[in-house]
Amino acid sequence: MRLSTSYTILFASCCWAAQWAIDPLCNRQQITLAFQEALHLARNAIDTLDTYHGDTHVESMKRYIMGSGTNVNNARLSFEAILQFRQNPSAFSPYDDAWRNERTNHDVEIYCSSTRTQPHVNGMGWDRSLQRELDPTPYQEILNCHNLNIGHSDSAITTWSDYFDMLGHIRSGAAPGDMNDYMTARPRFAYAIDICAWYLRLRLNQQPLNQNKVVAVVWTGFNGEVPADSVQADELLTLGGTILHELCHTMLGGRRRDVAGDRSYGWQQVGQLRTPENADNIMWLAIAMKLFTLGYWIDDSGVLEVN
Ligand SMILES: [Zn+2]
Repeated sequence: MRLSTSYTILFASCCWAAQWAIDPLCNRQQITLAFQEALHLARNAIDTLDTYHGDTHVESMKRYIMGSGTNVNNARLSFEAILQFRQNPSAFSPYDDAWRNERTNHDVEIYCSSTRTQPHVNGMGWDRSLQRELDPTPYQEILNCHNLNIGHSDSAITTWSDYFDMLGHIRSGAAPGDMNDYMTARPRFAYAIDICAWYLRLRLNQQPLNQNKVVAVVWTGFNGEVPADSVQADELLTLGGTILHELCHTMLGGRRRDVAGDRSYGWQQVGQLRTPENADNIMWLAIAMKLFTLGYWIDDSGVLEVN
């Protein structure tokens, strides 16, 4: 099914509560607070886009992140859909029969370990939760994600629960990113979000995007401590922001993609892409709107300015 078709079904549906279950090997409090921050960012984005429509700084940030036309309204569909997730996690773990009996592909399972996977034939992995094979590359990425001894750039990985006809896709000669015609939905299996070990450790005990964090980021700019390949705005990222990004990859969030590979992330890249099809653009729209409600805005070069 093409993504555009799934949008119609997805966003025409309304009003059920989607659920999220947390791997017992996660720090449950860390994940719960971050997921709730993701929901808050989505709620705040909708409210701010409504209330401050036409404000010079809101319009400037919208234009930088989303360009023109209906892109902001398109992004907003993901915020509205993501707000259908419940405020609190399921009492069950992803491994409990009670969870497995009621989960759907609108739900998500959040993992902080690779224990649900095991080696399978020909370098593939077996996912005990999704109950299907993982191709060698995604399998290795999940193993690396949860291995603190391996340097890598992923902070989190979302895996669709769909069955992917890899052989059919290869034989068709379709572009690597053009996989939708080779996906078959499996409504009884939730999507999986792996949050990587190094990133969980980096974010442990960090505050959400609030006044204190913004003040700290502003001072970071003064001290010249922003890494060379990023800008001051990038320092605003939180674990909740990352979860919002990942939720944009889920069935409910609209199955947005990372449209430009490694160049899909961060304030500078988002301003090049200016599309709601890229998950990070949607996340940055939410971060920008949150920053606005804290009394600041971000100029096109990624510097924080007082409102
Ligand atoms: Zn992504």
